[in-house]
Amino acid sequence: MPVPPSAQVTVRSPAKINLGLSVGPPRPDGFHPLATVYQAVALYDDVTATVRDDTDITVEVVGDFAVDVPTDDSNLAVRAARLLQSEYDVTEGVDLSIRKTIPVAGGMAGGSTDAAATLVACNRLWGLQLSQSELQHLAAELGSDVPFCLVGHTALGQGRGEQVTEVMSRGTFHWVFAVADGGLSTPAVYSELDKLRPLRRVEPPEVSPALLSALLSGKAAALAVALSNDLQAAALSLRPELGGVLQFGLDQGALAAMISGSGPTCLFLAADSRRAVDLAVELAESGLCRMVRQAEGPVPGARILPAPITR
Ligand code: ATP
Repeated sequence: MPVPPSAQVTVRSPAKINLGLSVGPPRPDGFHPLATVYQAVALYDDVTATVRDDTDITVEVVGDFAVDVPTDDSNLAVRAARLLQSEYDVTEGVDLSIRKTIPVAGGMAGGSTDAAATLVACNRLWGLQLSQSELQHLAAELGSDVPFCLVGHTALGQGRGEQVTEVMSRGTFHWVFAVADGGLSTPAVYSELDKLRPLRRVEPPEVSPALLSALLSGKAAALAVALSNDLQAAALSLRPELGGVLQFGLDQGALAAMISGSGPTCLFLAADSRRAVDLAVELAESGLCRMVRQAEGPVPGARILPAPITR
């Protein structure tokens, strides 16, 4: 049954981590082919979209990392709304309000997830009734991580990361994130990688079978030894102090420690939720990072929240 448009919609959308990130040699267009296993984790941005009578698109950002986010046309949520508006000749506009909890420029796809949330919100707000696959198509135009943020859970990403297929994963994993001061630019990390690796010897990207079977087993100890990130060396080369953060987490009992995506957020896998809390406390007290977050995965992708009950 068609869903009627609403005057206001809030969509909650998760951060992503890369459990395996294999990076091939750069293509002639400069993009690096990837084979990655994404997991959506329970750290969320909420995007509230309110319809406007005119065609303007505005954005405000509130929450933990608001000051680091642009509020002009470069905001990925604005770009998502504008793409939808122009592709489907929409004659209404939207006021977007982003409640930000995901670290900015932390390698956790915060901007991409806001774009995914905006596609879902405006699809409902403007009554477009686009299918999931139509939204996926638009998402891929906006950025490599946006299609995954729509679907969430655990998925294989290929191409630039935009071609996503669900991966079977059992159970829940407990993650801790050490958020560093300042961000790392994703393009800068890729060019550092190209400097570090002699290109002739770079193999096409592939996902390790050990990672896929660890996910099927649902065992944190198996997953810990199967995690990998080709961007880690480049992120550490640009921010060597992050090596100390990773080591601190391991010394405190993390099963594994890794740079999240292009960094600089450091990611730790804990054996269970109690150990995740302990590790988060130790990291917070260490003074080695700006802030610490803890989250479970996998979780679903961008989804509409029920409207608040009003009297
Ligand atoms: P990825 O993991 O997809 O490479 P990231 O998590 O490292 O991304 P983002 O948080 O998406 O990085 O931010 C990258 C840059 O995008 C920021 O420096 C910021 O200026 C810009 N940006 C644009 N729109 C947004 C948004 N809605 N939220 C956060 N950053 C945004």
